[in-house]
Amino acid sequence: MKIAVIGSGIVGSLIAREFSKYDVEVELFEKLPDVGWGVTKANSGILHAGYDDEPGTMRAKYCAHGNEMYDKLAEELHFELKRIGSLVVAFTDDDVKILEDLLERGKKNGVKNLKILSRIEALEVEPNLSREIKAALYAPSAGIIAPWEVAQAAVENAVKNGAKLHLSTEVFNILESGRQYVVKTSKGEFVFDIVVNAAGLWADELAEKAGVKVTPLHPRRGEYILLDQPFLVKTVVFPTPSKAGKGILVLPTVHDTFLLGPTSEDLPPSEKENTSTTPEGISKIIKSVKKLVPSVNISKTIRTFAGLRPENDIKDFVLKREGNVMHVVATRSPGLTSAPAIAEDVVKTMFEGYNVRKKDDFDPYREPIKKVAEMSDEEREKLIEMNPAYGRVVCRCNKVTEGEIVEAIKHGARTLDGIKFRTTAMFGRCQGSFCTVKIMNIMKRELGTGFDEIRKNLPNSKVVDGDVR
Ligand SMILES: Cc1cc2nc3c(=O)[nH]c(=O)nc-3n(C[C@H](O)[C@H](O)[C@H](O)COP(=O)(O)OP(=O)(O)OC[C@H]3O[C@@H](n4cnc5c(N)ncnc54)[C@H](O)[C@@H]3O)c2cc1C
Repeated sequence: MKIAVIGSGIVGSLIAREFSKYDVEVELFEKLPDVGWGVTKANSGILHAGYDDEPGTMRAKYCAHGNEMYDKLAEELHFELKRIGSLVVAFTDDDVKILEDLLERGKKNGVKNLKILSRIEALEVEPNLSREIKAALYAPSAGIIAPWEVAQAAVENAVKNGAKLHLSTEVFNILESGRQYVVKTSKGEFVFDIVVNAAGLWADELAEKAGVKVTPLHPRRGEYILLDQPFLVKTVVFPTPSKAGKGILVLPTVHDTFLLGPTSEDLPPSEKENTSTTPEGISKIIKSVKKLVPSVNISKTIRTFAGLRPENDIKDFVLKREGNVMHVVATRSPGLTSAPAIAEDVVKTMFEGYNVRKKDDFDPYREPIKKVAEMSDEEREKLIEMNPAYGRVVCRCNKVTEGEIVEAIKHGARTLDGIKFRTTAMFGRCQGSFCTVKIMNIMKRELGTGFDEIRKNLPNSKVVDGDVR
């Protein structure tokens, strides 16, 4: 049996890995040059506890369960997961009533260990919170991840278990042909028995081309400020939610920086690539976070960026099956958290009525890229003795070594962003000012390419015209 998955965001990647557990042929199609560069690349990276989603919605069905599935996934795929917990902070008596509602809703959704903390208790957890707060809802199961790392790890593991990855391959249409489907792509036509459309912001348009009416999507932009201010907060700090959503937050990243944001701005469907930031958005973030954490120091900003949520009118995920094609649409927040549960459900649904066997030799583990900065002195010395490249620091901010850059290339990085999103080199305080050229030299040597062939990310993102001297 042949199966196609379209889109290598966190949803498509985990679906492809889930299929790769079975005795079937899996092929994953991605229009961009790398895995996890769509919506999955720019978001808050929170594993939401699941108290926010109205019972009965698809979000409620998948969020808390998806959250629980992450511990096993992180153990198998070796990505960073920090269960740091979250606080929803109340400033008024009305806010406190909302916390009580969220607590009740969380219980209905199966969220464990939720608790309302008094003002004093909340300030003990987060001393930098505003003194004006009245109470906070504490959810210990909330966590943080680097979402693109999960997608990359899942795809690497799927490929290890036999899946085939087609990068830079855009799917134009899915056409029924007898009992099978022809998937028309920019690199030719392929025939499959089962197809899953997990094309993120474009899932609605692809479904429509395939003749299936689904909920139309528009991008909802979320702008962020990335901050390098140590010890700002330990948990994910939310304001009390409103009709507009979860609000503007303050949270740590797994790389020990801090995120402020996101804003929530609906854009027309024609702007599915508009990830620009705006002065209005940034001002709004600053105003909101200063209310939550007054000591926030905006002069410690490393960069600003924006992500786009695949939003629909019903504010919920849509899984629409038509024959043997499943369209996974409107993967808005909490799509990251829900992705493992969605993947499990999609695979189960598509195999109903088939006698498909699990592989005896499925290997759930993925070898991560070494992190020299996190090793003990003994481990580091032993590694450097075996390979001196692990002793040569290339990225000073995040202490990434030449050995790790070479490993990232072996793991599939072919662009500067490919290296950045696999190693965190160029991710730190200087954003690559000091190390980009050194990394380009390593890429030139390892890949045998000219400087002018190296790209930042997309084919048109040439970095230099060639050697000067
Ligand atoms: C600002 C913001 C904050 C968020 N915060 C959180 C959070 O904290 N927690 C949480 O749980 N969720 C959060 N989310 C939601 C989460 O990011 C998404 O649910 C998730 O990343 C969606 O993943 P995806 O795989 O569906 O989409 P994508 O990551 O976009 O993947 C789809 C892939 O399909 C590819 N593709 C598209 N069309 C084609 C085609 N025709 N052929 C081939 N490939 C194609 C794209 O290039 C892309 O790589 C947030 C989202 C945003 C924008």
